Amino acid sequence: MNTSSEHNDLFDICIVGAGMAGATIAAYLAPRGIKIALIDREYTEKRRIVGELLQPGAVQTLKKMGLEHLLEGFDAQPVYGYALFNNDKKFSISYNSDDSTDYHGVGLHNGRFLQKIREDVLKNESVTQIHGTVSELIEDEKNIVTGVKYREKHTREYKTVNSKLTITSDGFFSSFRKDLSNNVKTITSFFIGLVLKDCELIYPGHGHVFLSAPTPFICYPISSTETRLLIDFPGDKAPKKDDIQEHILTKVAPFLPKEFKECFANAMAEDDFKVMPNHY
Ligand SMILES: Cc1cc2nc3c(=O)[nH]c(=O)nc-3n(C[C@H](O)[C@H](O)[C@H](O)COP(=O)(O)OP(=O)(O)OC[C@H]3O[C@@H](n4cnc5c(N)ncnc54)[C@H](O)[C@@H]3O)c2cc1C
Repeated sequence: MNTSSEHNDLFDICIVGAGMAGATIAAYLAPRGIKIALIDREYTEKRRIVGELLQPGAVQTLKKMGLEHLLEGFDAQPVYGYALFNNDKKFSISYNSDDSTDYHGVGLHNGRFLQKIREDVLKNESVTQIHGTVSELIEDEKNIVTGVKYREKHTREYKTVNSKLTITSDGFFSSFRKDLSNNVKTITSFFIGLVLKDCELIYPGHGHVFLSAPTPFICYPISSTETRLLIDFPGDKAPKKDDIQEHILTKVAPFLPKEFKECFANAMAEDDFKVMPNHY
């Protein structure tokens, strides 16, 4: 790994945003000797409720890319299917049609997984890590993007990176999407997330989907001792603190199975909710 001040050369690829997409692209390409400038405004571990349940297709894709080792070493949990709960009925659906467990998803802490990918990327000599906020895509006279302008975090100075290819993977709050794509961002609802500690799942190693409550909610393991409870909050306005309490206590708590009651009460007492928009 190099630092930005040492390099003024032409990079093969400049990746804007070392999130799940950008860091994974870099992890795949860097060992192939491709010269990459990887830019992110923040490299510390994030606590987010997104991307915590990798479906089997994502796990298989990581395998195909030779990156499955990135799922090891941070207490990620295999997930073998879903369990559905509707009033008194409950049953499970496995990802595999036989007894095998090869085809499985993974429940994890998104922040830990991302840090693991980034660590792996930054071991490569061909990667230059840049800590800064990209403010502009630089274009030539033919409107071809030739690099980016960014503000370096520590010096507050504006600098440029020149590259043959620029990938913008700057996530949900992208500054560049409106100019690069005609995709209109639509928020359909919000997820409220809380962590249940030491909660024994009714179907261990399965995502649990609860359908009989007025609002759907799901839970799945994110470590060997933690279960994420994710609750839908309809509408395009983020819930306020009082709305969250009311929503959970009236539309979720009465519909939780008895096995979850104690860990749920403990999680409510901790009052540590995360809210994230659901968007397309
Ligand atoms: C509520 C919710 C639940 C989800 N659940 C799942 C799930 O269970 N399983 C699953 O596989 N997927 C899930 N997803 C989808 C998944 O989380 C996203 O597809 C994925 O995180 C997107 O990754 P990304 O790299 O595009 O963006 P991000 O992970 O947001 O990364 C963007 C990066 O760009 C950086 N950045 C932004 N702007 C700039 C700038 N100007 N300059 C420099 N850096 C910048 C940010 O700091 C960040 O590190 C979920 C999404 C949501 C919203």
